[in-house]
Amino acid sequence: MKPQAIVWVTLIFYLLFIGVRFVFMMYPADSVKLRMAQESTPSASERRADNLWAYYLINEENPLRTDFTVGLEKVQGDFMLDERCVDYAKQMIEDAAAEGIILTVVSAYRSVQKQQENLDNYIKRLMNEGYTSKEAKARAEKEIARPYISEHNAGLALDILTPDWWDSHDDITADFENTEQFRWLSENAHKYGFIMRYPKEYEDVTGYIYEPWHYRFVGVYYAGKIKESGLPLEYFYKTNF
Ligand SMILES: [Zn+2]
Repeated sequence: MKPQAIVWVTLIFYLLFIGVRFVFMMYPADSVKLRMAQESTPSASERRADNLWAYYLINEENPLRTDFTVGLEKVQGDFMLDERCVDYAKQMIEDAAAEGIILTVVSAYRSVQKQQENLDNYIKRLMNEGYTSKEAKARAEKEIARPYISEHNAGLALDILTPDWWDSHDDITADFENTEQFRWLSENAHKYGFIMRYPKEYEDVTGYIYEPWHYRFVGVYYAGKIKESGLPLEYFYKTNF
């Protein structure tokens, strides 16, 4: 090989190497993101102690106890949340409004009975649309949690839309991500202890479709960590940091 060719080959390999490294830096694997979040975490004794009561998983494998009870307080209109996190939500709504962003709560606490009704109604609707009962059940359970595995049953979740949402939609859809309300929540919800609980591309981990409208209270400390990492709560909770 001519010396000139060697220089070129070396240069090309070097550029490839830099390129690959850059891609890894820009798009770290989930395991790397999790490690980064954990490394920047104070020791257990230094963790924020407040709101640790709210830091737990509610999902298929971790249902609420059937004797679960919760103290409730109104957050907006007749919608209610766990009284221990209601002030955080109210402050969030108030601060958004001060910037001209109206956050409209369309669902918050739901009783277990209400949850079952919602699920049954949705299954009926899907069956009217031509789904078999098995298909309808499978699809409905991906979109509406069964009783005891919904964060709404715990009084820890808020579904938020725009005030004029229903003028142009018959349903809650991922279109919400194109609103100024979503942009505001993406930047600010964690400051009030709320996370967007079912992020895009993690359907297999959370068991739920992407829900840009669903916000779950986990406390300010963990909300910040979770937002920073872009990972769903399941990843954090499993590793118990
Ligand atoms: Zn929800």
